[in-house]
Amino acid sequence: MFTPWRALWNSLPGICQVCGAWPSSAVCGACAERFQGERQRCAGCAAPLLTGTPLCGACLKQPAPLQACVAAVDYAYPWNDLIARFKFRNEPGWAGPFARRMLCAPQAAELLSRCDLVVPVPLTPARLAHRGYNQAWELVKALRRGLPHDVAVQADVLVRLLETPDQHSLAREQRLQNLQGVFAPHPQRLHLIEQAHVLLVDDVMTTGATLHAAAHALRQAGAAQVSAMVFARTAPPNTA
Ligand SMILES: [Zn+2]
Ligand SMILES: [Zn+2]
Repeated sequence: MFTPWRALWNSLPGICQVCGAWPSSAVCGACAERFQGERQRCAGCAAPLLTGTPLCGACLKQPAPLQACVAAVDYAYPWNDLIARFKFRNEPGWAGPFARRMLCAPQAAELLSRCDLVVPVPLTPARLAHRGYNQAWELVKALRRGLPHDVAVQADVLVRLLETPDQHSLAREQRLQNLQGVFAPHPQRLHLIEQAHVLLVDDVMTTGATLHAAAHALRQAGAAQVSAMVFARTAPPNTA
C-alpha cells in the first residue's frame, strides 16, 4: 500500500528537529545526549526515583500489576513536542528514533530477553480510522528490529472497546475501576496470550491506569506475566 506520509518523511532533509543542526538524524547526537532520559526509575512503574530504592513509594504501598516497566525518557522538552508531532501531526516516522532510544534504556535488553510476545496498546477503531495509524503499533514495528528472534509481535492481541475516560482527578483504584471493559483480548489470539510473558508498548505513560487496565485484561486471558515499555514517562508530582 502506498503511504504518502512515509514517502514524505523519507524525503525530508536530515536536520535535527530540536536544534536545527545539519546534516543530522531526526534528533542529533548532541541533543540526544543533552536530553537523554537515563535516570533511575521505579522497576514497577518507571517513575523517576530520587532515592536508591528499586520501587517508588506508590508501588511499595500497592504493587503495580506490571512485572516490569521501562521508559526511555521523561515526558518533557523536547520529547513532548516530538510526541505531539508523532501522534497528532501525521508523523509516524518518529517511531524509528523513539524505538532506538527505548532499546537503549537501562533494563530494556534484559526485559525483552524475558518476553514472549510484544503488543501495542490499541486504539478504538474510530480513533484508528481518524488517525490512520496506531502510534504504539508503529513503535512495536520499529522495536522489532531490536528484538530477540523468538519474540513474537502482534497488532491485535488486545482490542480497545472504549476511549479512556479523563482520569486525572481520580484515585488509583477509581481509575482502574473506570477502565474496566476498555480492553478485551481478541478471541482469535488467546492461544498467543496463554502462559506468555506479554510486553505492552505505548508512547506515553501518565498515571499508568491505561497500561494497568490492558495488563489486567491480558492476565484475565491467561498471560503468565505482563510488563510494559514506553517511550516517555510523566513524572508524578512528588518526583518532578
Ligand atoms: Zn540537535
Ligand atoms: Zn513505581
